[in-house]
Amino acid sequence: MSGAIETPQVLLAHHLKALKLPTFLREYAKVAAECAKDRADHPKFLLRLAELELLDRERRLVERRIRAAHFPAVKSLDTFDFTAIPSLNKMLVLDLARCDYINAHDNIIALGNSGTGKTHVALALGLAACQRGLSVGFMTAAGLVHQLMEARDERRLLRLQAQLASLKLLIIDELGYVPLSQTGAELLFEVFSQRHERGSTIVTSNLPFEDWTSVFGAERLTGALLDRLTHHVQILEMNGESYRLKQSRARRRKDIEKTGDDLPHDPETGEINDS
Ligand code: ADP
Ligand code: MG
Repeated sequence: MSGAIETPQVLLAHHLKALKLPTFLREYAKVAAECAKDRADHPKFLLRLAELELLDRERRLVERRIRAAHFPAVKSLDTFDFTAIPSLNKMLVLDLARCDYINAHDNIIALGNSGTGKTHVALALGLAACQRGLSVGFMTAAGLVHQLMEARDERRLLRLQAQLASLKLLIIDELGYVPLSQTGAELLFEVFSQRHERGSTIVTSNLPFEDWTSVFGAERLTGALLDRLTHHVQILEMNGESYRLKQSRARRRKDIEKTGDDLPHDPETGEINDS
């Protein structure tokens, strides 16, 4: 290829990179060929490229949001079996997945015993928010308190607090599993306070509200916290049988049916397997 032909392409590549239009750069030759074939004019050519760039940009943003959220696992409502937890209002959860509550700065509290899908639903709502391009953070209550204490010791508490307050959605999982120190409770309280009416917070807990004082220690602090958290709140009632327990029991029943015995046998050794 001679220099005269190459130069505009090299320059174009340079400019598109500077303008942060990677999809334009990657696709323009292909789209130009398609447009020539379809006899599409220049505005149509540019429109097609602009649409591709926008789609790609959205996809990249969603990927960035998911990475930044630090989800321990990616779960969605597609894999959630609502029939397993009749106390949970399915319509409400599906509505929440549309994320309008985030624009309204409403909070969500999922309450229930262990294994009923609270974390699963919280992860799914977090993913839904990421898919709408919203900033999300996911952490356990213990992990968050640990981060706050560490930040305080390293004199960067204000920065961390500002980061936490700026998230559109903060998910705090497993509040109540470990009692908090007085400092821990106060730091956590400040997070709720600073997010109040600025963003949405999802809290999952195995404790009913009456028992929250035992986590936060002080009754006054718990009262003030519940006051802020429940100002605009949707409660997800998730008391029921543990999903994992139910699954393993169902598997065992199937095994029994298969062998025709009253106890499942190991398919290879024939030994009774009652674990
Ligand atoms: P919790 O946070 O309430 O203790 P989890 O959300 O961690 O419970 O659920 C335990 C496991 O069971 C997870 O792997 C989760 O994906 C699965 N699970 C729980 N409930 C359901 C459900 N209704 N449908 C599908 N999977 C579920
Ligand atoms: Mg959980």
